[in-house]
Amino acid sequence: MSKVDELTAQLNATRRQLDEVKAEVHRNDEILRRTQRREVQMLQAESLDALITALIDGLRISFGVEYVSLVLCDPDYDIRHLLLANGTPAEEFDNLLMVESIAGLAPQYIALRQPWLGTYAACDHQLICPGATGMRSIAMIPLTFRHKLLGSINLCSVDAMRFTRAHASDFLAHLGVIASFCVENVVNRARLLRSGFTDVLTGWHNRRYLTVRLSEELARARRDSTTLVCLMLDVDHFKRVNDNWGHAAGDAVLRELAQRIESQVRASDVAARYGGEEFVVLLPNTDVASAQLLAERIRKAVSAAPVDLPNGESVTITASIGIAEVRPAPEADDLKTVGDSLIARADVALYAAKSAGRDRVMVEEG
Ligand code: GH3
Ligand code: MG
Ligand code: MG
Repeated sequence: MSKVDELTAQLNATRRQLDEVKAEVHRNDEILRRTQRREVQMLQAESLDALITALIDGLRISFGVEYVSLVLCDPDYDIRHLLLANGTPAEEFDNLLMVESIAGLAPQYIALRQPWLGTYAACDHQLICPGATGMRSIAMIPLTFRHKLLGSINLCSVDAMRFTRAHASDFLAHLGVIASFCVENVVNRARLLRSGFTDVLTGWHNRRYLTVRLSEELARARRDSTTLVCLMLDVDHFKRVNDNWGHAAGDAVLRELAQRIESQVRASDVAARYGGEEFVVLLPNTDVASAQLLAERIRKAVSAAPVDLPNGESVTITASIGIAEVRPAPEADDLKTVGDSLIARADVALYAAKSAGRDRVMVEEG
């Protein structure tokens, strides 16, 4: 080979290398731009579900990877309750993992301060990436809150070279900081919004919340052709408590009562303080016979033991409960009216129970 040919070959090789570097820079640029757009979308997310979708589905698309999961530590079920209150339970999000503690889920959590990039190992990463198959590399981006590790965003690729120890991770770290901020922000916002749905005396949901959930549950019952049962409970002769021991005692009774009712209902039931000393429980996908059994259990729990009053005395309380059931027709389009009528019918049954002597359960046979 002549000197000129040799130089030309070298030159061509260098050009090819340069082209590869340029292509890499272009790819990175493209990802950076897409990630920045995604960060703006995350910052603009007004609700928890919008943010979770932006994090899981959005990042999968932006990074062009095969699998993304989100792990969030939620020891007090705070985030889960907020999601539930928004109408989308955590289980409905694919690849979202809400855990009580992240310890033991993946070895990297022991010291995850910066993004961890490397080989995907099923034994290490399967718990944080449920359902992922054929993955060969992973980037775990830590999410933190007040310097505490809250979870991670896990980007997984079938390409073993996609995330390696040799890759720079600063822009993933940046993404992690933004995502952590966004999670904190929407959780706070959801709490604030929810405070309008909470009864301050009992900590239960209030009537406003019940109205929202009632239409959601009716829509679900219509879609799944199931029933929705409504229990309405009213304390018997509650005025006497106020009259004999004062309002503070009345309030203490209401708080204790809420706890006794709550101890009997399932997590999937919707319980709310409807007003004054009236409580409503919505039972999705339940028949009247089981609702009657539950109502009896609630009625017994209310009167089982005297309630201690702030002054040291105690009082035995009884309650009456009315039950009504509805199976929304597939063509029912005015769910508000269907809901109002369900509540009204439960109220009719409640007053029948009062007239029949109180401390009992009655069913409205509409
Ligand atoms: P009945 O068996 O017919 O239900 O008799 P009742 O005395 O319970 O009658 P009613 O349901 O009409 O009265 C409810 C009373 O509850 C009226 C109101 O003074 C009292 N009340 C409503 N909200 C509160 C509250 O937040 N705290 C207290 N202490 N009392 C309340
Ligand atoms: Mg009342
Ligand atoms: Mg009453």
